[in-house]
Amino acid sequence: MRPEVLFPLFAEIRTLSGVGPRIGAAIERLAGPRFVDLLWHLPTGIVDRRFSPPIASAPDKAIVTMTVEVDRHVLPPNRRVPYRVVCHDDTGTLDLVFFNAKANYLETALPVGEKRVVSGRVERYRDRLQMTHPDRIGTPGELDAVKRVEPVYPLTAGLTPKPLGRVVAEAMSRAPDLPEWNDPAWMARNSWPGWREALAQAHAPEEEAALLPSHPARQRLAYDELLANQLTLALVRRRRRGRPGRAIAGDGNLRKRALESFGFALTAAQKAAVADIAGDMEAPDCMIRLLQGDVGSGKTVVAFLAMLAAVEAGAQAALMAPTEILARQHFATIEPVANSIGVSIALLTGRERGANRKRIYADLASGATSLAIGTHALQEEGVGFADLAFAAIDEQHRFGVDQRVALADKGRAVDVLVMTATPIPRTLTMTAYGDIDVSRLHEKPPGRPPVDTRVLPVGRLNDVIARLRRAIANGARIYWVCPIVDESETLDLAAATERHSALETLFGDRVGLLHGRMKGADKDAVMARFSAGSIDILVATTVIEVGIDVPEASVVVVERAERFGLAQLHQLRGRVGRGDRASFCLLLYGSPLTETARARLNVMRETDDGFVIAEEDLRLRGAGELLGTRQSGLPDFRLADLSAHADLLDVASDDARVIVERDAGLETPRGEALRTLLYLFERDAVVRTARSG
Ligand code: ADP
Ligand code: MG
Repeated sequence: MRPEVLFPLFAEIRTLSGVGPRIGAAIERLAGPRFVDLLWHLPTGIVDRRFSPPIASAPDKAIVTMTVEVDRHVLPPNRRVPYRVVCHDDTGTLDLVFFNAKANYLETALPVGEKRVVSGRVERYRDRLQMTHPDRIGTPGELDAVKRVEPVYPLTAGLTPKPLGRVVAEAMSRAPDLPEWNDPAWMARNSWPGWREALAQAHAPEEEAALLPSHPARQRLAYDELLANQLTLALVRRRRRGRPGRAIAGDGNLRKRALESFGFALTAAQKAAVADIAGDMEAPDCMIRLLQGDVGSGKTVVAFLAMLAAVEAGAQAALMAPTEILARQHFATIEPVANSIGVSIALLTGRERGANRKRIYADLASGATSLAIGTHALQEEGVGFADLAFAAIDEQHRFGVDQRVALADKGRAVDVLVMTATPIPRTLTMTAYGDIDVSRLHEKPPGRPPVDTRVLPVGRLNDVIARLRRAIANGARIYWVCPIVDESETLDLAAATERHSALETLFGDRVGLLHGRMKGADKDAVMARFSAGSIDILVATTVIEVGIDVPEASVVVVERAERFGLAQLHQLRGRVGRGDRASFCLLLYGSPLTETARARLNVMRETDDGFVIAEEDLRLRGAGELLGTRQSGLPDFRLADLSAHADLLDVASDDARVIVERDAGLETPRGEALRTLLYLFERDAVVRTARSG
């Protein structure tokens, strides 16, 4: 259970008196519902109110804090003229200017004949100095409270700085002193403050430099978050590793015959990956390895060979895909080869039902079926294996630690291979999987022509249509990908349906539509028609995985390409250029395009190397958006900035490994403190497993 010292931080902000539903909802949208969420909402700017020049020498446009005496109120003759309050000090006069003023309020706040502190931006207007709508008005006694450096927080519609500042202050006052979980020597070397002090500094920046990720307070907080992430992964991993493994060593016979039946030679990268995996499987502990390779780099083939190694050793193997379409596609690739070498194989998705499903279950349980390919249906409770020894999880561009364990739990000491087509940089791999072994397929099988990529405004739709007509006349098949709209599947669908009918009026009935809400059989039907060439254009939303393989497809059009993550665009582009036909990728953008968006789309034009694309996107947009905002499955860091704190991630990873080696139960004094850290970052589940050993 969460330790009691943290309770005040995990209380709901709405329980604070004075936070109404409207402000509460705005804060929730901005940062989150609880006080702890506000601790992580760090300022992005400062306003320095310490400058107090006399009126006569105040520079134009400066932010100043002044003590002035109020001389008179000048009421406006009509609504268009502002209300003016004339003040002075020993050196000159200052006009305070208010539009749409409330006279009552101003008379109370700025009484004639009294001194007041005002703070805001001043301007020289003709020969007068004026301050329009002072940010602060106070009594002389409040000078010190006004004359300071104020943090500026990101805001959202319906929220002003004042109520937000109050809630942040409340969150800070609820932050307890916590036992130090970081190594003291490491803290000293970096001159890092303690946790509470670091928060205090981060929320009260005294200068611009205090906003930088390199500031000690910010570094410390980022490190805490990264350590919580790495320690969680290390503990999860140890739980798997801690189990006795088994050595899976086949005689190579099935693999040899499969290779012959492929009709092609493995690339050097595939050979290396196959050797890595075989080595892990032969070793006596549990494998957990990431196979990373671009679309079409031949991961499935590598996974299949590993599966056969398990079968050679007398065990079973499974391959799980994120969508039904992908599962069917993997099955279509693998089944003929499996059949030709006499290995029994089954497909299991949500669509295998009734007696058929029962038979599949029975054959997996008895061991009559050696290989299973499927969706999450493989993880369902009713599924049991006689002896599952190897599981490959194809995540495409999704990530996550939790899912893969469930399938691995269906066997004894299962070796796990996670496959991803997203060439994420190493830093992100580490945050998603921890210190995992990685095999990368850097090269593509030979003979794939590069895809000619063009970036053009959506306003040139007519040119695009003309180009598609020519392509279709030459026998091309075309994917038309519709964009993500407002994070809503319903709206995505509406946009796709609309595009579909627009294209139908242009191209007649040779246009198909594929989306996530369709029934499985309808999806198959439209895919089959596209595969067979009885439709030329397939309009699709990206909610469904477009991980489909139609070698004849040679054009992909992506509408509103600027809304996609580069990794996604790269995936989509990878759908073409699979045959020997010259292929095109047309990225249509909506104007106006921001500088960053333009730079990103240019990256797509300039390179076909998924790893380069991923690094560039990380640089240009930051980790959160690398994969598109939806469904990335990557951890979402509030304090750490992976483009700035990559070196800290390395240290956190080492730190976590050592902690788990020495104190996996988190029972030493530092271990106890680390539990608090894990609770602070809501890793409750992993603390429980640490405790149980
Ligand atoms: P991925 O899963 O990485 O997207 P696949 O394993 O599906 O890639 O391979 C894509 C296509 O390339 C498949 O049709 C596969 O048969 C073929 N392929 C795989 N490896 C090679 C190779 N070494 N040489 C030629 N073709 C290959
Ligand atoms: Mg093994």
